[in-house]
Amino acid sequence: MSHDVNPTISIVVPAYNEAVGITAFHNALTEVLQGLQQPYEIIYCNDGSSDKTATVLHNITTTDSHVKLINLSRNFGKEAALTAGISEAHGKAIITIDADGQHPVELIPDFITKWQDGAQVVAGVRMNASGKGFTKNTGPRLFHGLFNIVTGQKVEMGSSDFRLIDRVVQQAFLELPEDDRVTRNLIDWLGFERATIHFVAHDRQAGNATYSNRQLIRLATNSFISSSPRPLYIFGFMGIVITSFSFIAGIIIGIEQLLLEDPLNWNFTGTALLGILILFLVGIVLLSQGILSLYISHIHTQTKQRPLYIIDRSRSVLKQPHEK
Ligand code: UDP
Ligand code: MG
Repeated sequence: MSHDVNPTISIVVPAYNEAVGITAFHNALTEVLQGLQQPYEIIYCNDGSSDKTATVLHNITTTDSHVKLINLSRNFGKEAALTAGISEAHGKAIITIDADGQHPVELIPDFITKWQDGAQVVAGVRMNASGKGFTKNTGPRLFHGLFNIVTGQKVEMGSSDFRLIDRVVQQAFLELPEDDRVTRNLIDWLGFERATIHFVAHDRQAGNATYSNRQLIRLATNSFISSSPRPLYIFGFMGIVITSFSFIAGIIIGIEQLLLEDPLNWNFTGTALLGILILFLVGIVLLSQGILSLYISHIHTQTKQRPLYIIDRSRSVLKQPHEK
């Protein structure tokens, strides 16, 4: 198998049980790439498919020298497959795209143009969710709003894995060591010069979306947990509110009922007083949970071992010309 030593453009395609549609996808992709008149490589990452995907892709590698194939040992999920593909890419620009035909290949030249104009990350943004049902449409909308509120991040609605990243972004991305990864969030976290391209997602050309509802929910939780420790604090804040409220209420009622013998005729029963006492104690429990959370969030940040900063080496002058 031969391919260019230093191809300019790498295309990374994760594929899980895509045997039926992937040849058509490959042909469409190849047509667009041939039109670019630029060297390119296509890296398929077969994510432990249980159908004929591996065979079909292997056949493609024998007839097309632009194609590389990574076979994962089992199904690790799209995020892992993407990371594997990105780490094997040798291009100056790396484009990630789904194998099911939902990401329009015709837009690849636009991604490249934006990159040539100086963007280091070109993010594809879906304009409408073409999927139906809760986990594919309403779910993402709700999730997206909640995500931005809770984590304090600003992720664009429809942000997708149809992306181009420059080689410097690839290098920085591969230094992120965490296990629970959501590729697009990590790339957003990295920063760098950004541009967006809006696209309308096509329908799947074959088969069903291979992300099960369970996987989608896990992806959603992972996004939350790996993006911010804020959810941990919420209960601590609730504790503060409840404790202070019941404390003040307790004092006022205590004075009014027990000391002054009910001049305002509130007629508070013992049960009501008990209720306030319980509220107070619940508040204290939540509060201590909040304090625990502070410690956990330190551990959380630490275990991710993300670097403290990312240097854009392509835009820094770290050596004077006379230095080697
Ligand atoms: N995919 C993968 N591993 C998985 C699930 C999906 O590599 O465990 C690939 C799949 O073959 C496709 C892309 O990830 O190329 C997007 O998957 P899908 O179409 O199921 O997701 P959706 O379009 O709903 O985001
Ligand atoms: Mg899809």
